[in-house]
Amino acid sequence: MLIDARSVAPGDEVDTDVCIIGAGPAGIVLAHELSNGPWRVCLLESGAVNPEPATQALYRGNVVGHRYYALDDCRVRRFGGAANRWGGWCRALDPIDFETRQWVPDSGWPVSWAEIDRYTARTRALLQIRSEAEARCVALERGEGRLPADLMTTGLLQFSPLINFGDAFREALFATPNVTVMLHANVSAIEPDQRGGGASIERVRVMTLNGRRFTVRASVFVLATGAIENARMLLLSRGGGAHSNGLGNEHDLVGRYFAEHPHVRYGVLEAAEGVDLGFYDEAQRTGRDPMGWFVLPPAAMAANRVLAFSASLRQRRHLSPSLVLATQSSGFAAAKSLVDAVARGRGPWRMGNRLRAMAAEPLRLARGTVARLPGSAVGPGARLFEIKVRAEQAPNRESRVMLDASATDALGSRVATLDWRLSEIDRVSVRKGVQLLGEAVAAAGIGRVYLPDDGDVVPWDAIGGGWHQMGTTRMASSPRAGVVDPDSRVHGLANLYVAGSSVFPAYGFANPTYSIVLLALRLADHLKARIAAPPPAVTAGQPS
Ligand SMILES: Cc1cc2nc3c(=O)[nH]c(=O)nc-3n(C[C@H](O)[C@H](O)[C@H](O)COP(=O)(O)OP(=O)(O)OC[C@H]3O[C@@H](n4cnc5c(N)ncnc54)[C@H](O)[C@@H]3O)c2cc1C
Repeated sequence: MLIDARSVAPGDEVDTDVCIIGAGPAGIVLAHELSNGPWRVCLLESGAVNPEPATQALYRGNVVGHRYYALDDCRVRRFGGAANRWGGWCRALDPIDFETRQWVPDSGWPVSWAEIDRYTARTRALLQIRSEAEARCVALERGEGRLPADLMTTGLLQFSPLINFGDAFREALFATPNVTVMLHANVSAIEPDQRGGGASIERVRVMTLNGRRFTVRASVFVLATGAIENARMLLLSRGGGAHSNGLGNEHDLVGRYFAEHPHVRYGVLEAAEGVDLGFYDEAQRTGRDPMGWFVLPPAAMAANRVLAFSASLRQRRHLSPSLVLATQSSGFAAAKSLVDAVARGRGPWRMGNRLRAMAAEPLRLARGTVARLPGSAVGPGARLFEIKVRAEQAPNRESRVMLDASATDALGSRVATLDWRLSEIDRVSVRKGVQLLGEAVAAAGIGRVYLPDDGDVVPWDAIGGGWHQMGTTRMASSPRAGVVDPDSRVHGLANLYVAGSSVFPAYGFANPTYSIVLLALRLADHLKARIAAPPPAVTAGQPS
């Protein structure tokens, strides 16, 4: 059933069994899995089916740390969420991502790879991508490179045809009798049950932009509003006692450990004469066939004490490697960041540093600009590729989403401030990964890697994100280490769950949506079991 929240009677109290907040991939998959069951599901979505600027503006916020997209530009506030714009790129996390690595503080998941792997087949079926074995067969036909396995392996990336998540599930969800989808329904607060000492959630408050106010009561609530907004919603929902700093925030963890996948163009690979590396080139991928990523094997990660690393290629005109490398220099990266910041009206943040970096490298800046001038297209046989790294970020407590001190949105709620922070191991790992890729292609006789020669670190300004926000309500067995427990339930709250990449405690380099979908399937199973056999009521003070 479909309802426009703007037509709900003011002060109404809607009653349901499962209330899901947010209709991106996480919320949609959960509602889809719970459809046609003997329970009532209410899916509350802020946006409509089509874009609406006033609703999208509710996503405005501030960026104060490492350079990042404007917060209303890297997210999509309408039915289908950010997956109205996603590329369909899919990859599972690797078993190593779930392990505690002694050289990466706060690494590891509280659930095993084997437990996650139980959902692999269902996730692939839902996303309409091949099994790993089938994809490997295609990869072999397409010219997967022979690399020395101790240095570098070939990982596969697949492409889901569900390019618009909202469209793919909309008709079915709107027609399902036990699911009520409410559009234009902005949840403004999640309220604990004060009679039970705040140990469970009683209702959520909903506001519409045309001034309607009502509440939704449920037995179970799932917050699925994306990694930045999940943290913001918990921080906005302040109550008494343990909830005075926000829900689930007794240990000051909500919003912390914000992570992205560092995306960096770093190094140039020149293929050996007669060697075709098109399988690793994004521009040469064919249809929905898998493409190859160079992936650092776990033993090499351990031996070098670095993070997970992957890289693909991007063919360039056959300029000299040094011309292409000039586009990766500090001066060129600083100039690009500055132009970007001005274009987005982000003001003078780090302006001085950037101007100094540009002034220190006039020659590289000029050479980089020449290399980026529009010119002849890449011709057949061109053997020069830029290396595009998509890396893991180490968990970092200081990297966080907060509430802005004063700015509010059109509904009167404080907006989010993002302070994305990277650590030294993040950029050390990128350079080491490219070095090891160089050793691997040289040993295999398939090419040669040129590294930037302007020092042995990756310039901070060269590192960007990839629209992959993660980590702000991390999963941990103990409430002192994470916001949600291994079932994705907020520690200390009997009936509030979180869905989406905010629960990832470690992030690997894989694009997140595959794992978001997988965890939503897992959560759906958990909720079905819970509804079938409800847990005893919990009151405040009892261990959770
Ligand atoms: C340009 C772009 C390309 C991308 N490409 C890829 C890719 O190829 N592969 C990949 O894995 N990932 C990709 N991503 C990331 C991917 O889109 C996200 O990981 C995914 O959409 C997250 O799903 P989610 O359901 O957790 O959150 P979201 O998709 O962010 O959905 C959250 C939903 O909650 C709603 N909402 C927010 N606040 C409220 C509120 N207060 N009340 C009610 N509803 C609310 C929003 O309107 C939205 O519909 C891309 C993202 C972008 C922007």
